[in-house]
Amino acid sequence: MAYIKSAREEEECIFCTKAQRENDEDELVLKRGKHAMVLMNAYPYNNGHLMISPYRHVASLEDLNRDEQLEIIALVVLSMSVIRRALNAEGFNVGANIGSVSGAGIAEHVHMHIVPRWKGDTSFMTVIADTKVMPESLVETYRKLRTALHELESH
Ligand SMILES: [Zn+2]
Repeated sequence: MAYIKSAREEEECIFCTKAQRENDEDELVLKRGKHAMVLMNAYPYNNGHLMISPYRHVASLEDLNRDEQLEIIALVVLSMSVIRRALNAEGFNVGANIGSVSGAGIAEHVHMHIVPRWKGDTSFMTVIADTKVMPESLVETYRKLRTALHELESH
């Protein structure tokens, strides 16, 4: 019983699943670090919405060790640079929802959100809230971000 429960929980956690799968483009994983990865949100609040999650299945930033904390902050900063370069973002919302009471979608596995912002993008966000974001446009954005990442990392 305990085995079935833990296997199911593992299966339901998209962060653990994506960490284990290998095709980065299919999984929309932009970068795999030592302790954490950067991936695109498949249901973005805005175009280019990224998430950073540790590989370990823990619920809060407080559960992370110092190495994990430092890499996550470094990946947040890298993600901002990538989004600026690829999509000319003018600002960002950066944060994490900790605990289901905060509105976290997947409260058991902590993750940071990086949402790019542009002047006047509220109308865009209203539009996408009512419309399914096409997988093609997600992949197109993914490729733009990946190109910018490679450019930044080759400097
Ligand atoms: Zn997990």
